[in-house]
Amino acid sequence: MKRLEYNDVKFIQQSIDEKRILKCVFYEHFFFDIRPKINYSVEKGVLIVDDKYEKKIRKMVENGIRNDLRSMRTEFTDAGYPDKKVYKKAVFVDRGSGIGLIGNVGFGIVDRNTNVIEVKPITGCNLKCIYCSVDEDKRSVDFVVEPDYLVDELGKLIEMKDCEDIDIHIGGQGEPLRYKYLKYFVSKISKNKHVRNISIDTNGLLLNTEMAEQLIDAGLTQINLSINSLNDTNASRIAGCTRKIDANWIKDLSKMSVKLVLAPVLMKGINDSDIEEIVEFCAVNGIICGIQNYLYYNGGRNPAKEIKWEDFRGLLHSWEDKYDIRLLFSEGDFNIHKTIALAKPFKKGDIVSAYVVSFGQFNDEWILSAQGRIISARGNFSVGRSYKVRIIRDKHNIFIGEKVSR
Ligand code: SF4
Repeated sequence: MKRLEYNDVKFIQQSIDEKRILKCVFYEHFFFDIRPKINYSVEKGVLIVDDKYEKKIRKMVENGIRNDLRSMRTEFTDAGYPDKKVYKKAVFVDRGSGIGLIGNVGFGIVDRNTNVIEVKPITGCNLKCIYCSVDEDKRSVDFVVEPDYLVDELGKLIEMKDCEDIDIHIGGQGEPLRYKYLKYFVSKISKNKHVRNISIDTNGLLLNTEMAEQLIDAGLTQINLSINSLNDTNASRIAGCTRKIDANWIKDLSKMSVKLVLAPVLMKGINDSDIEEIVEFCAVNGIICGIQNYLYYNGGRNPAKEIKWEDFRGLLHSWEDKYDIRLLFSEGDFNIHKTIALAKPFKKGDIVSAYVVSFGQFNDEWILSAQGRIISARGNFSVGRSYKVRIIRDKHNIFIGEKVSR
């Protein structure tokens, strides 16, 4: 008998409608099903089959991961209903997928021509914050990127920038702690001699002391923790799910060898007093507080009205005086500077021939590939076919296109 053991795939035996189905769990949060019509057994995630079936099963697994865009799913516990599972389609992005890492704002690499490079290894979030600009409900597909592909492509970009103080900012439209290879990625990229800081945006739901220690050991230098109240009930209401806030644990985290920034979002009429409590908590415990002003986003959940910037700054200024803490920061505080700009292979208005490599995050969105970049476009496309698209957005190498009618 053959034991089929994978680093990234764990097998779970299931029976649905009396049919035997093998659930293949991939990168911890993704899965696909296969239905081999052979005898097999599963032992602690390892599949045991007769030797003669090894090749066949390996092919089925390979197809599930890489070739069959319709089979991969991601599974969430619905943030608002712990008993309910939510499933979304998912796409694995590796070198062989043909999906480039530059061109999409949701996953991969975003370079805004400064020394801060945004890295987005995974989409999808385990919360449902009432103010979320991403609005998970409208995104029917998640993406997860193979870590060595990400490290290699990032390395090329860093090399091109030719500067000695690169900051890698891991965040994106989702929760990066759901990324199985986060520690591996941090450890690899921290060894790049041009990288000075590695920061992460997290809602902290999956963060614990052991994980924080491992990430810090791997090279993480800053954690931006988005909590919007120190009170469990209010934090849960804002997060759209049950959230326990452990202020003592936050204090412990702030004593680790990492820069901790509490990054709440101020929503007028919703959490003004909670934010003031966070400010006081940060002042007392010597924690950096980076309050964000709630902004309206098309497609976001938008629970409150925006506060004018002068009113926001005025409020922060009054708290600065009251609690003797710095809350207002400028670009100069973050040592952000311009670098060599990444060349754009095409620009707004150009018509390019592009090949559809995947569907996108929205129902009618597609990912096309052309000249080393990816382009998002909405409409009627088919995976595997080429189309002429007109580029309608090119800022920072994030490309949006529209189909040119024949
Ligand atoms: S944690 Fe961030 S991405 Fe997740 S729901 Fe809240 S705001 Fe959105």
